[in-house]
Amino acid sequence: MTSLVVSDVRKRYGATRALDGLSLAIESGSITGIAGPNGAGKSTLMRMLAGEETADSGDITLTRDGARLDEPWRYVAVVHQEPQVWPNMTVRENLAVGRERSWFGRMEPAKDTATVLASLGIGQYADYQLADLSLAVQQRVEIARAIMCDAEVFLFDEPNSALTENESEALFATMTELTAKGKVVILITHRLNDFVRYCRRVLVLRDGQIRHEITGDVSEAR
Ligand code: ADP
Ligand code: ADP
Repeated sequence: MTSLVVSDVRKRYGATRALDGLSLAIESGSITGIAGPNGAGKSTLMRMLAGEETADSGDITLTRDGARLDEPWRYVAVVHQEPQVWPNMTVRENLAVGRERSWFGRMEPAKDTATVLASLGIGQYADYQLADLSLAVQQRVEIARAIMCDAEVFLFDEPNSALTENESEALFATMTELTAKGKVVILITHRLNDFVRYCRRVLVLRDGQIRHEITGDVSEAR
């Protein structure tokens, strides 16, 4: 069970308050959606969680099974619509090199590659080059690499924009499994319908703050 807490985080760009005292708490167990209009601060929040941006003030804390994890960004993986993988390496190599270069892996014993790939239904592609695989499989490799690197928080940024309906459903099934395994899973998307179908909690960000929270049956909030 992992829990992510953001407390009163502020970030300015010149006169723009991109994050204006943002606070939220997200636990594993279900997919949490983050919605909001352009300019609300979603990307800034994401970059900050991933360690690509520092806060002017405020705290981000991550706990796993009650123990606080130092440097939360080490445990945050971002999954995009365009998988960021090495196209000329095999799946196996992508995982090995990812772990080797990761600043958040290496602390825990290596997981078994075959087991991780099998759990994502891509065991048969272990020795394929990424360039020869579909976008959906490449995205799974990205997820597998994050698991190998001991990620505890998975940020999915418009993850299914380029997927077929079937691939999209399979991806959400995988995301649900990650939450069931105790990972924090966050979905950022413009597709409101995905919030309705897959999220039991949606946070609405606006002007750098959480302005609304919808829980339970998200469709009833429409
Ligand atoms: P969203 O992802 O919800 O569209 P952003 O986090 O990209 O929102 O942006 C929040 C606000 O911060 C916007 O007003 C945006 O113009 C501003 N902003 C974001 N990044 C930068 C930056 N690197 N430099 C200047 N302003 C930025
Ligand atoms: P390389 O070590 O070749 O630059 P890596 O992918 O192995 O590339 O590592 C990326 C580097 O970025 C690491 O050295 C890590 O220290 C640094 N890094 C990434 N995010 C942060 C962060 N939030 N704070 C400090 N350093 C970071």
